[in-house]
Amino acid sequence: MAYFKTRAAIGDGDGKFSIEEIEVAEPKADEVLVEMKAAGLCHTDWSSLSWKRPLVLGHEGAGVVKAVGASIRHVAPGDSVLLNWAIPCYGCFQCLRGNHSLCEVSRPATAFERTAGQAHLEGILHRGQPVDRSFNLGTLSGLALVRGAAVTPIDRNIPMSSACIVGCGVMTGYGSVVNTARVQPGTSVVVLGVGGVGLNAVQGARIAGASQIIAVARKAHRLETAKQFGATHTIQVQPHDEELLQAAAEARALTGGRGADYCFESTGNPKLGAAPLAFVRNGGMAVQMSGIEQRISFDMQLFEWDKVYINPLYGKCTPGIDFPRIFDLYRQGKLLLDDLVTRTYPLDSLGQAFDDMLQGKNCKGVVVF
Ligand SMILES: [Zn+2]
Ligand SMILES: [Zn+2]
Repeated sequence: MAYFKTRAAIGDGDGKFSIEEIEVAEPKADEVLVEMKAAGLCHTDWSSLSWKRPLVLGHEGAGVVKAVGASIRHVAPGDSVLLNWAIPCYGCFQCLRGNHSLCEVSRPATAFERTAGQAHLEGILHRGQPVDRSFNLGTLSGLALVRGAAVTPIDRNIPMSSACIVGCGVMTGYGSVVNTARVQPGTSVVVLGVGGVGLNAVQGARIAGASQIIAVARKAHRLETAKQFGATHTIQVQPHDEELLQAAAEARALTGGRGADYCFESTGNPKLGAAPLAFVRNGGMAVQMSGIEQRISFDMQLFEWDKVYINPLYGKCTPGIDFPRIFDLYRQGKLLLDDLVTRTYPLDSLGQAFDDMLQGKNCKGVVVF
């Protein structure tokens, strides 16, 4: 089998990474080989450094198809594609029920629990040994070898650095609003935390026709950005307001004393796992988008009364439906992508990109190849 040499960011499973040469095989029947052009960074990439096994990093990306396996029909060499980390099989229990992001075959919900030894693992070699890829993608690499269902063709005119972030942060924020909560026109929406995911919840709410969109954050400059994405009101969190109870009182005052119809949490702060409940009215919907999974304790009165709490994965993404829709909205100027990318970096500056992300300097940092 022929192998292509390229450079990739390899995590050591123990908190560190380095840029190394890897060898990538030609695609098998159901695989696609993608020459990566841009890869977005998110906090999951930082977590993935500690997943206790070597890993080609990166789960957001866009590129150009270099080669396809014999059974691939939906893309051809030269096509621009967006990669997608929740790869539906379209045949399992969850896929048949339309829950493509919960596919039981690719099991994105348990990606970090997987151990090495997957059937298709031999496709990439690092120092002569097969190496796993973050979410079966490994986008922080000159080449990505992925299953056909992991790529969706996109318009070649969309800048790759803007397109690449759709496959995670954009989809999670926008999809949680539009697909999961199904926010209705004329409603009130609170978004807690307005970074790479939260800003997309803000613009999702604007696109869904919410009449009141209240952005809540600690940093004033983030709130200014949120206005650009569609926030109608902002609340700057006071330093002592750890559980956001004071911010919640301010939001209640803005929503007729009752609380908002929906609240979307995207802070990733375990202390705020229950916070969205404090912002919604009786019968309202609280949505936790940031993947908090620590054990926390909280006051059950926050659930009163008739509130719904949802923890959607990846904005209920169906790639073939959601990605074309998102890029349509982008072309119409309704959904902002270019403005989400604060800074781009070469692969060799990945350390700087992580630092800037951890310090909250970027809405989104993107590695370009
Ligand atoms: Zn499936
Ligand atoms: Zn991500």
